[in-house]
Amino acid sequence: MDILLMGPPGAGKGTQGALLAEALGLPKFATGDLLRDAVKRGTPVGLKAKAAMEAGHLVSDDIIMGVIRDELGKPEAAHGVIFDGVVRTIPQAEGMERLLAERNRAMDHVLFFEVTDEEILGRLVKRLAIEKRADDDPAAVAVRLKAYRDQTAPVLAYYEAKGLVRRVPAVGAIDAIASRVRAAVGR
Ligand code: ADP
Repeated sequence: MDILLMGPPGAGKGTQGALLAEALGLPKFATGDLLRDAVKRGTPVGLKAKAAMEAGHLVSDDIIMGVIRDELGKPEAAHGVIFDGVVRTIPQAEGMERLLAERNRAMDHVLFFEVTDEEILGRLVKRLAIEKRADDDPAAVAVRLKAYRDQTAPVLAYYEAKGLVRRVPAVGAIDAIASRVRAAVGR
């Protein structure tokens, strides 16, 4: 089963994605985590992604398609993947569709985590204090929210047109949200 988690920055995709991955016995793949690790290690991908990420901009579709292709080539990804925040532009959505089709697969579910802007801003301020992610500073957060509205919101419409989207209210206790997430994928 292939499941895409979508939602604005700070919506809780990482937390819920890890719980869902465990419940379903599938690997979770987050481009954000992979890119942060690549930046830390100074790999070629990291060197290319660093400036865009720190400013809150999206990394180029070329780089993202390369990392998705690598991920889908891993043996552990053979039976499905929880994609956390992986598809953020229409070209990425089309590329993902091709890569899955090459394996006779298609996205099964798209979960949209619904959170208000107020709640997001509050959560990111807290995360900045704890994790000190460079892109959680207020200027970069504003850029990320704009990238989300301009480039990622159309992806939701793309999947809505395919009838794949389930909306999950993502405010409240972590386990209450986790139950909604499992229900949304029929588990
Ligand atoms: P958030 O969802 O809160 O923006 P992530 O950790 O998922 O945080 O991503 C951090 C950054 O990594 C993004 O701001 C962007 O620069 C880059 N990134 C992650 N996934 C993608 C993607 N699919 N396309 C382009 N850039 C991405």
